[in-house]
Amino acid sequence: MRPLHHLTARQLRDLFLAKEVSAVQIAKHFLSRIEEHNASLGAFLSIFAPQTLIKAEALDKKRAHNEPLGKLAAVPIAIKDNMHMKGEITTCGSRFLSQYRAPFTATAVSLLDHEDALFLGKTNLDEFAMGSATANSAYFPSSNPWDLSCVPGGSSGGSAAAVAARLSLMATGSDTGGSIRQPAGFCGLVGFKPTYGRVSRYGLVAFGSSLDQIGPLTTSVEDAALMMEVIGRHCSQDATSLDLPAETYPLSPHLEKGTVIGVPWHFLQTLSPEAKANFQQAIDAMQNLGAKIIEIDLDILKYSIAVYYILATAEASTNLARFDGIRYGLRSKSATTLEEIYDYSRKEGFGREVKKRIMLGTYVLSAGYQDAYYKKAQKVRTLMLDAFDTAFAKCDTIMIPVATSGAFKHRAISDPVEMYLQDIFTVPANLAGLPAISVPSGYDGRGMPLGVQFLGPQMCDVALMQYAYAYEMATRHAKIPGAYE
Ligand code: GLN
Repeated sequence: MRPLHHLTARQLRDLFLAKEVSAVQIAKHFLSRIEEHNASLGAFLSIFAPQTLIKAEALDKKRAHNEPLGKLAAVPIAIKDNMHMKGEITTCGSRFLSQYRAPFTATAVSLLDHEDALFLGKTNLDEFAMGSATANSAYFPSSNPWDLSCVPGGSSGGSAAAVAARLSLMATGSDTGGSIRQPAGFCGLVGFKPTYGRVSRYGLVAFGSSLDQIGPLTTSVEDAALMMEVIGRHCSQDATSLDLPAETYPLSPHLEKGTVIGVPWHFLQTLSPEAKANFQQAIDAMQNLGAKIIEIDLDILKYSIAVYYILATAEASTNLARFDGIRYGLRSKSATTLEEIYDYSRKEGFGREVKKRIMLGTYVLSAGYQDAYYKKAQKVRTLMLDAFDTAFAKCDTIMIPVATSGAFKHRAISDPVEMYLQDIFTVPANLAGLPAISVPSGYDGRGMPLGVQFLGPQMCDVALMQYAYAYEMATRHAKIPGAYE
């Protein structure tokens, strides 16, 4: 039998259902991998060793009694630490919440639990999911399993590192401007950001409420589809949840006849020659499958970084107002008056990047500047939606790279604007609420993974997953990093 961590989530579940492996064996296997590798990877902030084994025993009993088992029976899953699990600490990668125990469970996590997933622990992230390298965690940075001197991307870097090193077979991420897709791309994984509203945000600590979506990080498209079948459900606790029936995701390696793919070449001018060549190969692979490739105009997306960093900071500044030292998290010990509680708790609890974004967001929302920045950014966001509508009238899916290059070294980017510019290819899908998936597309000269994205019209999550699957089956770039085989 192949080592358990070489399997996909679906294969492992089937093995468990066929009684070839027990849930306790699975739990022990992955917990011991975490024990061996977590210190060097910095992937997990907390590990649920006793709880995982208790649940595994319960699953084995269920199986012994021939009780029905869920779609994710005994599948090891890691949860990004900005999603609540009742009774467990949710740090959000922040000192502010280092002791904060969640009073309830996020809907997405409950749905996974309901389908008998095996939770291994909570993963590291940039503080409040603000960052592109997991370097803004208040605890420790995470590293890329392909090269520990490189970042795993962010903000779901802990989730990506955990799955790439096969410490878990699946993980949840949250994506406000690329935080699922960019780490998936940097670590050679599949990462899916669903249509806005497809997955409930209830129990996800809010960053940019009009942009945030939860989604899977997995080793294959099939596993991403499997997780989506479980978490892509209407939820009455989230006012923006789509009130639609849950979808199933049938996958075929064949591309539907007449599929048209749009490529916004003009928007991709900043690509390095190496990234461009890799992207061209991905397009060629789709053409070989029978797709027709056309050029589309999405020039307006050159404003997407500016628009995103106005809207996301504005939303963050209001969302983070709730961390005041009274209601949630830490209260400064040196405060003596109410004013000081607010002041000192926020000063001591938040890190630099979070403070910067709160100030930026407060500025763009302030009376004198709201029209010039916030309202203008909203208008440009509408123009972007229009541009995508026009593009999707001509094509079924849009292909763009995940990032301008593969993973960079720790501390290689010190200029904050340069770091923000990293998100140029991922933020457009959030601004327009579109589903987008990143799939491994090969390796750069250093052997670091590269990724390609497929974007689809809103609600077309299932079709999008099919394009990604056809591409994945035709190219099969995903591998396990040598050190973790
Ligand atoms: N890198 C982006 C940011 O820092 C996206 C983060 C995210 O998607 N959570 O805002």
